[in-house]
Order: sequence, then C-alpha cells, then structure tokens
Amino acid sequence: MKNADLKHEFVEFIPRLLEDGILYVSMTYATAAHNCCCGCGNKVITPLTPTDWKLTYNGESISITPSIGNWSFPCQSHYWIKWGRIKWSGQWSPEEIAAGRDRDRLAKKVQFKGADSTTVNEKAIIPALLLPVKQSRGFWRRIWEKLTVKV
Ligand SMILES: [Zn+2]
Repeated sequence: MKNADLKHEFVEFIPRLLEDGILYVSMTYATAAHNCCCGCGNKVITPLTPTDWKLTYNGESISITPSIGNWSFPCQSHYWIKWGRIKWSGQWSPEEIAAGRDRDRLAKKVQFKGADSTTVNEKAIIPALLLPVKQSRGFWRRIWEKLTVKV
C-alpha cells in the first residue's frame, strides 16, 4: 500500500528496523531514513549534504529535495516528500536514470575534490548495523572492515 503521509521523528541514530510511514532524521549524522513509501519494505537512506539531499523543517513538517528515486529497488518508485506529504512522481526511463546519476557524480566531484565524501553517511549506519543481531563475529568484522576502510 502506498503511503500518502510521512511523519517525522528526530533521532540520534537511525534505528535498524524502520516503521512504515515515518521519516527518521538524525541531525547528529546529517542523515534521514525511511521505508520506501510504496510499501515494499526497502530502507531508503538519504544523506543530507550539499550534493545529496536537503531537508527543510518548518516546525511542523519536513520537506526533502530533490525527489527520492529508488532505482535500485525492484519497485523503482519515485516520489517527493513535501511538508510531510508524499507526491508520487512518474517512473524515469533508463536514460533519465543514467543522466541523473551522471549529474550526481559530477556534483560530487566538484564538491569533494580530494575530500572523503562518504564518512557522514557511514557514521550513521554503523551503529545501526552493530545493534545486537545474532550473527557470527566474522561476519560483522567483515562488515566493519568494509565500512571503516576509507575512514
Ligand atoms: Zn518500494
């Protein structure tokens, strides 16, 4: 079922399990996250940086720009979060998706010349990954090394 509204919740760490219809916002780690609004259950992480997403809070509700395009999920849903409401957008063609990705890459190149652009997002995700889950120690060590190798 498609959500029409998205409530927000300010948190320090993004929880490992997200509730549908809630946009979790960590100002500490400049990251927002929510479950895909189409109801498919995929987690959408939106880092807040000058070249990723921008969040506007008017004291009651939140807008995020630009739009959320979940091209890597099977649902390929595309929507805007505008003052806590979901505005569904058309599906992009493969060409439009590619063009959007090129734009993102170019923007990042300009913004982060030689700087590490990935730390903000990873810092927010690591605590979520490390919440108690029954997994072998080796598995988590591999994840940890993967995530921290660039820091
Ligand atoms: Zn979806």
